[in-house]
Amino acid sequence: MSHYDSLLEKVRELDDLNKAAALLSWDREVNMPRGGAAERIAQMTTLSSLIHRMSTSDEFGGLIEDAAAELDGAAYDSNEASLIRLLRRNYADARKLPDEFVARSSAVSGQAREAWVQARTASDFAIFRPWLEQVVGLCQEMAELYGYEDEKYDALLDKYELGMKTAEVRAIFSDLKAELVPLREAIDRSPVKIDDSLLHQPYDVERQKAFARTVAEAIGYDFNRGHLGTVIHPFATSLSRNDARITTRWYPDFLCPSLFGTLHECGHAMYEQGTAAELARTPLARGTSLGIHESQSRMMENIVGRSRGFWHAHFPALQALFPEALGGHTAEAFYRAINKTQPSFIRVEADELTYNFHIILRFELEQAMLNGDLAVADLPAAWNEKMRELLGVTPPDDSQGCLQDVHWSRPGFGYFPTYALGNLYAAQFFETATAADPAILAELAEGRTTALLAWLRENIHRHGRKFTPGELVRRVTGQPLGHAAFMRYATAKFGELYEL
Ligand code: ZN
Repeated sequence: MSHYDSLLEKVRELDDLNKAAALLSWDREVNMPRGGAAERIAQMTTLSSLIHRMSTSDEFGGLIEDAAAELDGAAYDSNEASLIRLLRRNYADARKLPDEFVARSSAVSGQAREAWVQARTASDFAIFRPWLEQVVGLCQEMAELYGYEDEKYDALLDKYELGMKTAEVRAIFSDLKAELVPLREAIDRSPVKIDDSLLHQPYDVERQKAFARTVAEAIGYDFNRGHLGTVIHPFATSLSRNDARITTRWYPDFLCPSLFGTLHECGHAMYEQGTAAELARTPLARGTSLGIHESQSRMMENIVGRSRGFWHAHFPALQALFPEALGGHTAEAFYRAINKTQPSFIRVEADELTYNFHIILRFELEQAMLNGDLAVADLPAAWNEKMRELLGVTPPDDSQGCLQDVHWSRPGFGYFPTYALGNLYAAQFFETATAADPAILAELAEGRTTALLAWLRENIHRHGRKFTPGELVRRVTGQPLGHAAFMRYATAKFGELYEL
């Protein structure tokens, strides 16, 4: 047996354990009775400490290095060399965080989350403040443990968007801001006002479920290798390329969360369904980064799912399911309603265009807190100031301001920017795809995505995690990530809608 085969055997064992942990976690959100919580936490803790022990052991490190020596000279884009690169990185990272730090960080996060719930309910930042100070401290500590060359934030960003530098994101976001703020202001001044009240009417939940399945299938989500569950906070989880699950929530009086949430999670799951079969049971069989993952979900949710062609094709079926709500409306009115854009306070309710401002704001504030340029006590004022600068509105209270997201109850700085990077990657990929294959737009005008999905499979999905996001975007589009494709897309779409 070669060293590489021995390594592969261990990697597959570890992957099986990771998937068992993922299943416990999926089950907790979707099926578990509330009474099962305490034992479930114990089960998940046992499994994760077993995984941590195995994946940081000297033995595992030795297996990686023996296999690496044996494979010396393997082509960079071969599965073998790609797996070794990924394992080396993960192994080094996992050994950088001492057990004591991991335990302390998880204890603080648990308590900070409780405090955040109370603070948000009472809209009282003072309750959360001491916990956020601890979380910022943990982020600073973590940055030092991981290490960095240029700036602290790099160490954290790298865990979500491998290889990307803070300076690069800062430059892209600053270009984006310079063009997006004037576009947003032009829309505010436009005499065109879009009425989206048709979306806020009674919509029977069972029929919403039926339609969610219809649109999921229409964009190419494979239910033979998928599953749709109901949860409070939707997510996608994959146990293998043949079992990539999505979840959705249902509102009886608002159509958008289930509809666009389903399309979004399908985008994530279809990425996982598209990874090459030969990568199975290794950590390569996953989307390569949060930002690239988000590009797939945003493409399906927004570029496809909020396009005119898609709804001219699928609106009649939706109308037939909801004759009372939609009988008197046209596909065009529906298309306009789902693309209404306006500044709002809450990130998760923001539209496709203004969403990016919510992320730029968090990215800037995270850096300021991490670098010690902004004291946690001054966060609410700094938040409101940036809301005025970017969106032209001031939150009426902190629960609709700096207390709205759960993210800052754990040391996860660096995560937020991936949401907006996803929008930018999506536009850049889509532009490349439609230039390469004109059938993509022709099909989309008829509500179909076969050609688009084939292109995504070939150029992005099948590679799994073989390439870093920076490598992938250059391979696929010939250029590094930028803001220009997104601005071309947004200017054309919203310029037409708002007659700019
Ligand atoms: Zn997502």
